[in-house]
Amino acid sequence: SMADLNLILLGPPGSGKGTQGERLQEDLDLPYYATGDILRAAVKEGTDVGTGAKEYMDRGDLVPDEVLIGIIAERLESGEANHGFILDGFPRTVVQAEALDAKLVELHRAITAVIQIDVDDDESVRRLSGRRVCTEGGHVYHEDFNPPKVEGVCDIDGSELIVRDDDKAEVVRHRLDQYHEKTAPLVDYYKTQALLNRVEGSKDPESVEESIHTLVSTLSLEEGT
Ligand code: ADP
Ligand code: ADP
Repeated sequence: SMADLNLILLGPPGSGKGTQGERLQEDLDLPYYATGDILRAAVKEGTDVGTGAKEYMDRGDLVPDEVLIGIIAERLESGEANHGFILDGFPRTVVQAEALDAKLVELHRAITAVIQIDVDDDESVRRLSGRRVCTEGGHVYHEDFNPPKVEGVCDIDGSELIVRDDDKAEVVRHRLDQYHEKTAPLVDYYKTQALLNRVEGSKDPESVEESIHTLVSTLSLEEGT
């Protein structure tokens, strides 16, 4: 219905999409599709998708569009997102955005809003260089900005905290280049459709959460919920 919230989180690596996506998911109780998490789970399980994706991810390259389009189409078609969704990390190219638009038209759905979390490259690098993730549930920490209670251990599930392979400095640089070349054009793509809502991402996590919360409340009012 018109009241459904179909949301996209857009932002460079390290902007806080995962951190905010988790909070937003709890807040709105909607299915949350983080394509990086989905791909890492596939790598871990050793599926064909995972095996194919791994080399791209390790280099910091984007995984081919058709793979990601397939992953998201499957979830939208399953019906589990019929009352809204939060996308994190998809779309990442104009081709993916166009495929998403086409799929949503087919399902008589539409994007409600794109939330652009904006940070500069220096901040992305600071965040990714200190990021730690848990091996069990993918919970995210930062060695300085958001440390776990016990060093090296996840607060939530007790599993070990590690540095993602693609958070090594050389790979981070390449991921940022890929972002600017292939993903940043989506800012204009969604501006043209009057769907873009920019949030200042460089503040502390609670302030960013508050900005997103305010934005989503406004959207809900406009959508008539
Ligand atoms: P971050 O949030 O740090 O930018 P993600 O966890 O979203 O990273 O993604 C990790 C990697 O997974 C990307 O560098 C890319 O290789 C792959 N990936 C995730 N989403 C997509 C997508 N929509 N298109 C292509 N590749 C993707
Ligand atoms: P993304 O999913 O966009 O790649 P993450 O949510 O994984 O970003 O955040 C990247 C790193 O920055 C993590 O280590 C996280 O703990 C930290 N972080 C997230 N939001 C903030 C913030 N507002 N201020 C400082 N550090 C943050």
